[in-house]
Amino acid sequence: MATINQNFLQLQGSYLFSEIAKRRTKFIEENPNAQIISLGIGDVTRGLPEAVTKAMHSAVDELAQSNSFRGYGPEQGYDFLLEAIIQNDYKARGIDLQMNEVFVSDGSKCDVGNIQEIFSQDAVVAVQDPVYPVYVDTNVMAGRSGSFNKEKNQYENIVYLRCDADNNFKPELPSRKVDLIYLCYPNNPTGMTLTKEELKKWVDYAKENNSIILFDSAYEAFIQEEDVPHSIYEVEGAKEVAIEFRSFSKTAGFTGVRCAYTVVPRELKAKDADGNDVTVADLWNRRHTTKFNGVSYVTQRGAAAIYSPEGKEQINSLVDYYMTNAGIIRDGLKSLGLDVYGGVNAPYIWLKTPSGLDSWAFFDKLLGEANIVGTPGVGFGQAGQGYFRLTAFGSRENTEAAVERIRKLSL
Ligand code: PLP
Repeated sequence: MATINQNFLQLQGSYLFSEIAKRRTKFIEENPNAQIISLGIGDVTRGLPEAVTKAMHSAVDELAQSNSFRGYGPEQGYDFLLEAIIQNDYKARGIDLQMNEVFVSDGSKCDVGNIQEIFSQDAVVAVQDPVYPVYVDTNVMAGRSGSFNKEKNQYENIVYLRCDADNNFKPELPSRKVDLIYLCYPNNPTGMTLTKEELKKWVDYAKENNSIILFDSAYEAFIQEEDVPHSIYEVEGAKEVAIEFRSFSKTAGFTGVRCAYTVVPRELKAKDADGNDVTVADLWNRRHTTKFNGVSYVTQRGAAAIYSPEGKEQINSLVDYYMTNAGIIRDGLKSLGLDVYGGVNAPYIWLKTPSGLDSWAFFDKLLGEANIVGTPGVGFGQAGQGYFRLTAFGSRENTEAAVERIRKLSL
């Protein structure tokens, strides 16, 4: 009989979102007339920009004719999209990239989940706490996590970098040497960012310790403040130590369409078992072309349209819409005296739960008394206990109504 990959048994149930759904369903059963507002999910709600749908329609028409039909495309992405990415997202900010350093994919979730495959099984992994769970779970599947310590709510062999109000959500360098460091900025769930100087500390650490930084920048488009870096490669020398992930999901409403990309600079090296340098981009290219057959032509045409003048304008107004929501939530909660973080350069608002309530107690209060669903911070890791996440991805009407309802609560 076949035996399983035992590491999968180390995974903890996806407790967070199933528990939220369970509590929400129970509440609706008991209160069928309640008008629930959800500020919990990380999905967007606005339609695709017109420039994108136009480009996708005409790509579909091209595919309908044998003389312009496209079948399998390059696994790494079509040149027209790679060029647009390199020119607009990097060159325009003074960063030079080559075509063979960018890999288009069907989402950052897959990329941040798959990247660990090309590193050795004994690599020591560090994650921020609270954390986007995919980084942890994919390393559990690969056998790097050790066992789960229920009391600590953490895996024994993963290095957790605590991010809370005491360090202004900026992790300290690990006390133990680590090999792979997942950093996410602008951060999900806290909505916080690092300055270039702060990012440089991590690049320096990685250089000194031969570590690699896996920099998830899925929310880059939401950065509003001038001094916040858009790419880790703005830090000199970062190409030698960092892989960067970007997604069109939140920027352009691509959560269902699916398109993202990963940058693996040619300068980035890792050691093989004999201590020789290996170009990481070659390994990633090998993995990508073996296990992935490219993003659809229609989708890539849609993604490239984001970089057209109309596309840029439409994306800006999408981002403005969500960031105005973020401001409404942030200012509204601040005016109630709550401790609120994020929401300035990211569509997430992270708040300290009032009256010392734990994350789930606050979830129940918000659902029961204001009929609002949010996300308990502890679901993202132990350091999220006593915090709560709200998202700016709802409609304006619901966002405003939610803040009014919270205003009426006794906190
Ligand atoms: N990275 C972070 C930090 C995210 O929050 C998300 C989605 O919520 C993703 C990656 C996944 O993005 P994609 O839709 O491109 O798979």
